[in-house]
Amino acid sequence: MSLQDKDRIFTNLYGFQDWGLKAAQKRGDWDNTKALIARGNDAIIDEMKASGLRGRGGAGFPTGLKWSFMPKESKDGRPSFLVINADESEPGSCKDREIIRHDPHKLIEGALIAGFAMRARAAYIYIRGEYIREAEVLQKAIDEANAAGLIGKNASGSGYDFDVFMHRGAGAYICGEETAMIESLEGKKGQPRLKPPFPAGAGLYGCPTTVNNVESIAVVPTILRRGASWFAGFGNEGNHGTKLFQISGHVEKPCVVEEEMSIPFRELIEKHCGGITGGWDNLLAVIPGGSSVPLVPAKDIIDAPMDFDGLKAVGSGLGTAAVIVMDKSTDIVRAISRISYFYKHESCGQCTPCREGTGWMWRMMERLRTGDAAIEEIDMLHQVTKQVEGHTICALGDAAAWPIQGLIRHFRPELERRIEEHNAQFAEAAE
Ligand code: NAD
Ligand code: SF4
Repeated sequence: MSLQDKDRIFTNLYGFQDWGLKAAQKRGDWDNTKALIARGNDAIIDEMKASGLRGRGGAGFPTGLKWSFMPKESKDGRPSFLVINADESEPGSCKDREIIRHDPHKLIEGALIAGFAMRARAAYIYIRGEYIREAEVLQKAIDEANAAGLIGKNASGSGYDFDVFMHRGAGAYICGEETAMIESLEGKKGQPRLKPPFPAGAGLYGCPTTVNNVESIAVVPTILRRGASWFAGFGNEGNHGTKLFQISGHVEKPCVVEEEMSIPFRELIEKHCGGITGGWDNLLAVIPGGSSVPLVPAKDIIDAPMDFDGLKAVGSGLGTAAVIVMDKSTDIVRAISRISYFYKHESCGQCTPCREGTGWMWRMMERLRTGDAAIEEIDMLHQVTKQVEGHTICALGDAAAWPIQGLIRHFRPELERRIEEHNAQFAEAAE
């Protein structure tokens, strides 16, 4: 099971060709977009549902279903909006960056089609502030599409008016959370809102809004051109399509690659990364979906299908498919402690369990890292993660708790060893 070159959607992923409009058109982008739009709003949404596409931002919510939550009629003349989440900040994730750098027209064409399907007036692409060159490319591509009449008034000759705007973030990880992103777009401090209401009910400026990830939108034109059954033909049941994997850490050749959903971990690494540094016996653990998902020890990940359900079955998740590989040279406690620091730093501070809990968890992790703790504190830390998990406004609290839970679940003996070693040294020094 692995993808053939002819089945790749992102044909310029490595930037070997020009990203500009003419080159993109030669690769098939913007090819009779008018005809795709002419299929009609509901037909496009049905096609997306049939394709089985699940959101590529991390949560895996079915994309066609999400679009179907948008109202068919405008209430009180309120417009609907599409917001595209390009605030890619999850540690380990760098796939949306490659799409924007090298294939921006796939994203803009996808925005038009998706926006039309959900009857949106405009799309706002919220791009991570640090993506400076990517923002330049994206703005130029939007300008090219506008100048060519592909978007804007009577977009692509479809009779439909649709604007695409780019908005740059200012460096806050939490603005990648969809409701914080909406707040930020409205000019407010980027802090998540309670859900429900979901954005389709009350989103940007209180109007119906759908927030989709860059990759989810950029694959839309190809799915419509090749057909839902083509896309649904890849991957295991409930986990369909092709997917961008971003593989970093202790592999011979880290890379971003488009592969078939559900490809087994070993095959993904052997085929695209030249194997694990020092060989497979040297593999310690993998964080398969960006820092928000728990690590998986080597023995459980090797044959796991890289998809939403396959990774759930081994106690983790696909997340953004940012695969962080750690070999036996890794100080696993330090690695998770560093992730804890990240969440403490990025907490927006709005809810107490997250604001206080992320600090507690990080400080306890630091003590466990050096072994300067009591054995009982391992369970105490676990209890703190349980107090944070599920008790916060947004998923950042869960994301801070899960990596620690994974560490305790799989590496408790290592935590105990450090404490015992530290205590023994202390006792020796006291004698
Ligand atoms: P979520 O499960 O709350 O929501 C996912 C999407 O489905 C949202 O758009 C939400 O509005 C919609 N949805 C869910 N239930 C719904 C319902 N009942 N009715 C209508 N719409 C509904 O997850 P989330 O908090 O949006 O995202 C969490 C994920 O984000 C994590 O899994 C993590 O992997 C990922 N993440 C990604 C990045 C990145 O850089 N791409 C950064 C941080 C986190
Ligand atoms: Fe803010 Fe954390 Fe609460 Fe999310 S969970 S709203 S980041 S304090």
